[in-house]
Amino acid sequence: MYNELQTLLQNHYEEMVEIRRYLHQHPELSFEEEHTPAYIADYHRQLGHDVKENVGGRGVTAELRGGSPGPVIALRADFDALPIHEETGLPFASTVDGRMHACGHDGHTAELLVLAKVLNQMQDKLAGTVRFIHQHAEELAPGGAQEMVADGCLEGVDAVYGTHLWATTPLGRMEYTTGPLMAAADKFKIQVQGKGGHGAQPHHTKDAILIGSQIIQSLQHIVSRSVDPMASAVVSVGHFESVNAYNVIADQAKIVGTARSFDEDVRALIEQRIQELAPAIAAGYGAGAEVTYERGYPAVINHQEEALLAARVAQEAEGIEEAVHASPQMGGEDFAYYLQHVRGAFFFTGAKHPEWTEAYPHHHPKFDIDERSMLHAASILGGVLLEEFGQRLDEN
Ligand code: MN
Repeated sequence: MYNELQTLLQNHYEEMVEIRRYLHQHPELSFEEEHTPAYIADYHRQLGHDVKENVGGRGVTAELRGGSPGPVIALRADFDALPIHEETGLPFASTVDGRMHACGHDGHTAELLVLAKVLNQMQDKLAGTVRFIHQHAEELAPGGAQEMVADGCLEGVDAVYGTHLWATTPLGRMEYTTGPLMAAADKFKIQVQGKGGHGAQPHHTKDAILIGSQIIQSLQHIVSRSVDPMASAVVSVGHFESVNAYNVIADQAKIVGTARSFDEDVRALIEQRIQELAPAIAAGYGAGAEVTYERGYPAVINHQEEALLAARVAQEAEGIEEAVHASPQMGGEDFAYYLQHVRGAFFFTGAKHPEWTEAYPHHHPKFDIDERSMLHAASILGGVLLEEFGQRLDEN
């Protein structure tokens, strides 16, 4: 049955490309999606699937019941774009200024829609139910996954699978982990309150820039001196702001950064250390510092058996040359929430064109994918589904 599925997918490759390019030309930002979810709902409705719109906001779910009963397996694709001005020069580039599908979510949607069509053609033979989860707002915390789950998109679901097309991973390679795959991504802000004054009279001031610098230095010691060296974590400051005249000592300074981790204890430790260090350092100078720590997506933690299943299927999928156990990525993904509720796995599908010496990273204005990766992703997801239905190796 897997051969039939893959042949049907290949026969529909052109449509997959058309859908991807159409979506690519019409990107919509997280929590502002209107046209895209309507397009997706319409596509499923034409196939006769049970469609729910406005799931958890702007999400869409669709359900296909096979000819005989079996497990309910969810496949998820996200569909939001980014506030980036496209510079690819592609003939199907974004038609909207300052908006771009720069993470491949257009491809995710195209591959899942066409997989849905192909599975629909095999409906009578399927021994189970497919729940298609089309998720809005992956790019912007708090994200769409959490609210779709709260709105019941996983009700009755036995397992969930998803993949991310990955532009810097070679076409034909599937990457997975049997545990953490992507990091918890948090944001912290530190507001330093000193005492401003004349640059020539420092002894009457509490220099917020100097204090802020000390805090930033100390934040770098959290990973090197508080976190277990066998664990992984990142603390990065990307924003340090205090604008004054050259001869003025700063009254205030603002520090904003991100903390990444895979383990909930490490995550809590980092938060605690930032909360302790910043005010203590400021107090040492007679100043104050207020910390706001915002938790973003939790870490994506794969379930072992399901990840191994995806890898096993990938090794037999058309066009996939290798399935590799990869190192986790420090990027965040709200697929994490689904995996907190049901078993499942998330993996990367290589999308770097063989002729590209270097691929532009995700979220880059020249980001692109080798579109054949969509076929690979659909093949693996479809194969995993059949395997979950106990049918992949069926000959009929
Ligand atoms: Mn993405």
